[in-house]
Amino acid sequence: MTFDDFGPLLRRAHGHATAFLDALPERFVGARAGRDEMIAAFDGPLPVQGEHADAVLDRLAMHAPRGTQACAAPRYFGFVIGGTVPVALATDWLVSTWDQNAGIHVISPLTAAVEEIAARWLLELFDLPRDSGAGFVTGCQMAHFTCLAAARHGVLRRVGWDVEADGLMGAPRIHVVASAEAHVTVDVALRYLGLGTRSLVRVDSDEQGRMRLDRLREVMDALDGPVIVCAQAGNVNTGAFDPLRGIAEIAHARGAWLHVDGAFGLWARAADGLREVADGIELADSWATDAHKWLNVPYDSGVAIVRHAEDHRAAMTVAAAYLVQTRGAERDAVDWVPEFSRRARGIPVYAALRTLGRAGVGDLVERCCAHARRFAKQLGDAPGVRVLNDVVLNQVLVRFGDDDATTRAVIAGVQDDGTCWASGTTWHGLAALRISVSNWATTAEDVDRSVDAMLRVHREVAGRVVVPTS
Ligand SMILES: *Cc1c(COP(=O)(O)O)cnc(C)c1O
Repeated sequence: MTFDDFGPLLRRAHGHATAFLDALPERFVGARAGRDEMIAAFDGPLPVQGEHADAVLDRLAMHAPRGTQACAAPRYFGFVIGGTVPVALATDWLVSTWDQNAGIHVISPLTAAVEEIAARWLLELFDLPRDSGAGFVTGCQMAHFTCLAAARHGVLRRVGWDVEADGLMGAPRIHVVASAEAHVTVDVALRYLGLGTRSLVRVDSDEQGRMRLDRLREVMDALDGPVIVCAQAGNVNTGAFDPLRGIAEIAHARGAWLHVDGAFGLWARAADGLREVADGIELADSWATDAHKWLNVPYDSGVAIVRHAEDHRAAMTVAAAYLVQTRGAERDAVDWVPEFSRRARGIPVYAALRTLGRAGVGDLVERCCAHARRFAKQLGDAPGVRVLNDVVLNQVLVRFGDDDATTRAVIAGVQDDGTCWASGTTWHGLAALRISVSNWATTAEDVDRSVDAMLRVHREVAGRVVVPTS
């Protein structure tokens, strides 16, 4: 290998990439192959001499489409995944090319400066306190970890305990309050932080999955000592928002820290038409979100935002003589995220924001929500089909027929049909098809084609399923 290999190899990769992308809108949306086919395609003994790079690249590219879901395709409605706006993908290639260690300013003034700007733009876009701390992490999971580490620091500092120095052994007990509908990544973050999942006090939620304020009040009245409340902006099934203004009032009256899981819901703040849905979100103490979902940048890209920058920094910072940290105006990413060496993942965020602008992000988000309403209208009007949730955001839960078996058969049939892809869920004991719209490229026509496929599959299933009579 020599430096001259880069050019031809990157041109080869470019050819493979554009072929993949060109096929994306019309290909079978699900994955065609499973583990066995993928192992057969790639396995073998660890090479002793190694192969030519062209052959390695070609092998990966040849088998990739069958082993991938078309997650970035316009008719992919599985989970809440988002695609990739072209400029973010292109920038991501450059980020890999530059190979910057984004941990400290001295290694990469470029990354430090661009991420400083991207962080400021995000706070402006979400209209959150401009002096908040912000860190670019791998995803919402690590954003929870980061924010809740800051929360842990903050609530213990207020009672005179230095958790970074003294750890949790012997510390005042922290109670964590979350709704029954909190995302599992909140539980995982609590485990990582040594708070444990048993410290979690669950608050009942209503029929849309929103935390009940009356129950929160009861729970808070019964707790003493430091408390962290975790609320949700965007339920993964219904898209519903917890009543954030009311939660903030109750939490803050009690001196508790309020953390919000806004993995995709925080982006509602970018859309003028959705300001009401996210009312009160600005009152929280910390916010976890993803850029790889609704901003449509490549993985991995999450953002941890903390109102109390000093708590954020205290929970994350590292200091070592050899690091030449700046401690001045320059930003050292190690002060804001759990990672040490890391990818310059804030740069594609910057490129997406610069290209879309505030109006473009708002439009992307509102378009997705309009598509969700279009799904709900067309499916809800069809005979034997029922929409189970209030479509307040980008999520639609659909029930086919009167029994779980029909709905499950429709979900499997839709996935096999390949026109689109959506996953299944169980909502309040009922099986449901779960449609998440979060891709910049989805059009009304994509919705119509997908609805046609879903209803066609439903007709086939309805003609076939024998419903048990008792
Ligand atoms: C996706 C999601 C998460 C987890 O985010 P990752 O980016 O996968 O780590 C957490 N909460 C909600 C509401 C989500 O939708």
